[in-house]
Parts: sequence; C-alpha cells; structure tokens
Amino acid sequence: MGVYDTIHMELECPKKKIKSKVGVQVKWTEKQYLEDYNVGDDVGFGKNMDNVWVREEYICDECKKRHYAYINLKNGVVKEIIAEAEFKRRNLTNFLDYSDLL
Ligand SMILES: [Zn+2]
Repeated sequence: MGVYDTIHMELECPKKKIKSKVGVQVKWTEKQYLEDYNVGDDVGFGKNMDNVWVREEYICDECKKRHYAYINLKNGVVKEIIAEAEFKRRNLTNFLDYSDLL
C-alpha cells in the first residue's frame, strides 16, 4: 500500500440516478502524498498533455457497484469530471485508462 492522492467529485449513479460525492484515489499525480484535489485544482500532471481524459474506477456509495469516472485535465488542472454516460453522450473516445489499478 502506498499513499495516494484523492480527487473529490460529484457523480450521478447510473442505476439509482442519485448524485453523490465520491473520493477517487489516483496514482498518477505528481506528489502522491495524501493530497486532496477538487475540480479546478492543479494536480501537477499532464502539463505537456493538453486536454487529456483519464478514466478511473470507483465504488459507488449508492449501489455499491463499480462505475467509471472520466477526469479532464488541461495543463495539469482538473477541468471537469463526468460519468460514463456523459462521456459516451459527447462521443468522446480517447482516454488514458487507470481503472485497472483499483
Ligand atoms: Zn452506483
């Protein structure tokens, strides 16, 4: 077990259609030392990769199942976090997959 950073987000459960706050542990940030991040924060990652989507997996508080979250980084700043349904609705296809690491 290492120490990981957490990104906090509010996402709707696709099964129960209830929005809830979740904290997703991420392993790709620069510091990796129990930092907490929210939308708008600079995570120190991807500064040379503009407009990157990162996929993460989390366990939903509402239904206890795993869902995907898509995190948009622009110059290392968390610009937006959306659920899988919204990602598909926008016809987005390219993302970095970190979801295997849960
Ligand atoms: Zn759920």
